[in-house]
Amino acid sequence: MTNSNRDFILNMMSTVLEGHKIKFDDALKLIRSDDVNTLAACAKELTQRFVGNHIDVETLINAKSGTCPEDCSFCAQSSFNSTIIEKYPLLPPEKILEQAENALKNGANSFCIVCAYRAPPEKDFRQICETIKLIRKNLDIEVNASLGFMTMQRAKELKSLGVKRYNHNLETAKSYFDKICNTHSYQDRIDTAKIIKNAGLELCCGGIIGMGESVEQRVELGMALASLNPDEVPINVLIGREGTPLHGQNFITKKEILQTVATFRFLMPKTILKIAGGREVHLKGDDKKILQAGANGIITGGYLTTQGNKPIDDFKMLEEIGARQK
Ligand code: SF4
Repeated sequence: MTNSNRDFILNMMSTVLEGHKIKFDDALKLIRSDDVNTLAACAKELTQRFVGNHIDVETLINAKSGTCPEDCSFCAQSSFNSTIIEKYPLLPPEKILEQAENALKNGANSFCIVCAYRAPPEKDFRQICETIKLIRKNLDIEVNASLGFMTMQRAKELKSLGVKRYNHNLETAKSYFDKICNTHSYQDRIDTAKIIKNAGLELCCGGIIGMGESVEQRVELGMALASLNPDEVPINVLIGREGTPLHGQNFITKKEILQTVATFRFLMPKTILKIAGGREVHLKGDDKKILQAGANGIITGGYLTTQGNKPIDDFKMLEEIGARQK
């Protein structure tokens, strides 16, 4: 570890604080930096300066599980993969309302309705709209959605119902996308992300790291996300589920996760950087380190097809690091 490495990171922090963007080659130097302590400290400083000490805590519901016609190779819900998961059609509105009530009771400030579709059939979309109305009428919780590809008309309808944020991930770098998915294109994902922004919804757009992409491709993903100006970026870490082509793969270390999250903070100083799926499996109790190295959001109470920490344990951890819940 050299002083010049530390000086470079400090210099990059000043660049961001002065309102300038980080270039690709500099982001690559950051993500490769061995001075992880300085990198983390600077990412924390940027987080505090731009977005404060709040942690966004979200709960998800998998409202329609499995049988997705897309072939995303990391996904337990793809019909191309033979993962053993519970599959079910769209849940009735009352059931989703009940889950939103539980999320609120457990302390979450946002609730995301997630469905495994390429795009919802019209009948399901109407039912989801009714569900959103029901939650908005009965509960004081932020409602978000993740329903696959969107048209402008549908995105505007969700906005009119009070949906705050819509999730649609880029998944990985453009140059790695065809290793991960072949039933739709990277441009399809960019198009939906832009529709979300243009409809006036907040954009939640992130990806999955540790799928065999190179460090350069992690930076490429970070730069592509930054160019979309997302309000939130979920960073998932691959859990190579049995029955998927990525089963058993473990392509990333704790140190690389931290380097990636911290570098993404330099690239997107004002966004919510949420450490999402894979947190519990890969970080194994080191979640605090990531929340002090640029991340400022978590998902609590489990994921779409995997278990997560209990909310009570996550809130205890947030208290220990002196973070305030948003
Ligand atoms: S589109 Fe979404 S739900 Fe469908 S296979 Fe891909 S990641 Fe999974």
